[in-house]
Amino acid sequence: MTVHSSDIDGGTSGGERTGALADIGVIGGSGFYSFLDDVTEVTVETPYGPPSDSLFIGEVAGRRVAFLPRHGRSHHLPPHRINYRANLWALASVGVTQVLGPCAVGGLRAEYGPGTLLVPDQLVDRTKSRVQSFYDGEPLPDGTVSNVVHMTFADPYCPAGRAVAVKTAAAGGWEAVDGGTLVVIEGPRFSTRAESVWHASQGWSVVGMTGHPEAVLARELGLCYTSLTLVTDLDAGAETGDGVSHEEVLKVFAANVGRLRTVLFDVVGALPAAQDRECLCTRALDGLDTGLAAPSRTS
Ligand SMILES: [Zn+2]
Repeated sequence: MTVHSSDIDGGTSGGERTGALADIGVIGGSGFYSFLDDVTEVTVETPYGPPSDSLFIGEVAGRRVAFLPRHGRSHHLPPHRINYRANLWALASVGVTQVLGPCAVGGLRAEYGPGTLLVPDQLVDRTKSRVQSFYDGEPLPDGTVSNVVHMTFADPYCPAGRAVAVKTAAAGGWEAVDGGTLVVIEGPRFSTRAESVWHASQGWSVVGMTGHPEAVLARELGLCYTSLTLVTDLDAGAETGDGVSHEEVLKVFAANVGRLRTVLFDVVGALPAAQDRECLCTRALDGLDTGLAAPSRTS
């Protein structure tokens, strides 16, 4: 199935989208959806180029969920080469209104050791090369040009989604750290010891490579975005060993992916219905004239 989302046929209201294939999006690897019984692979085209992969749409807890492997199904895309705009646009174009973004991070405090689940409420952008707006004034393939838009982003994550994530994780026996600052670095290398010490000294909590610009692009489309970070290592400045290794990160992530999936699916079931959302994300575009139409699909 191929879905074209390049047609412009409505306003950027962030409101009801008819014919939705899914209303919740999960940006995460195949470990989250590969065992679902009935998954439909949907290829989506966007005005920003191809997303990381197809969307894999299935049912979880009675909700339609679109899974998108952030790094591609064969994990070939490093964090700085992910087409974040295409990913968020693709999810929105199939009807997604709420996005969950699980990711692996390094802990910047000794108490946030491997296996810690932290639901951040703030982020710091230390990336360098990533396009982080749909409203950058560049013409789209159809000639449409966005207006200049300055998005309110004081609180980067959906407060409703965060509350559901923290409460649901605790109910499932995994007490999450409620709040904290995710600093997102460019990667793909890990931090130097000096960078890590500096990050920690700023009071930031965890460090990752993919949390930005996902959250702001979701906000620019009026979508809810909730980050669930899994600590896979203590970052270089918070431990005295040789520093973070990719192998160590993969090992800890693999050991925790099962329970992270369980929490994610519980959160999916507990999120409000699309029409019941009352959070600030739904009002992100109020009063703004973006010049672009909402992501939509035509087949
Ligand atoms: Zn929200």
